[in-house]
Amino acid sequence: MNIALIAHDKKKDEMERLALAYRNILEKHTLFATGTTGQRIIDATGLPVHRFKSGPLGGDQQIGAYVSGNKMDLIIFLRDPLTAQAHEPDISALLRLSDVYEIPLATNLGTAEILLRGLDAGFLQWRDLNRGKDRDKLRF
Ligand code: PGA
Repeated sequence: MNIALIAHDKKKDEMERLALAYRNILEKHTLFATGTTGQRIIDATGLPVHRFKSGPLGGDQQIGAYVSGNKMDLIIFLRDPLTAQAHEPDISALLRLSDVYEIPLATNLGTAEILLRGLDAGFLQWRDLNRGKDRDKLRF
């Protein structure tokens, strides 16, 4: 599965601890991240991470493009709810697209742990079926 990891500045320590704690699960998957978050995860865990641009410079939008291309299966986005972000529109866009494409997305540590454990238990296997579909051609 393709997993995107994003953490706002005040949440980067938390993301590092999460990645270390769940390294044995994350290592079975392909990891993507915004620039700084990705580097922190690489340094902490040694896992390979494809790094997009930093969030404020378009990283969230690059991840959004993967979502709209049905190429992202799970997103952990540790947001800082107490600090205004210059790139708030990009953040909202990513959350919206994840809902459009029904991509599991955690915005806090509690949900992130549930998603990672669910992933490891096989609860996201439906994504393997969905990934092949071209959602643009579906009619509801
Ligand atoms: P960063 O981007 O990982 O490059 O810091 C995340 C963000 O702040 O949106």
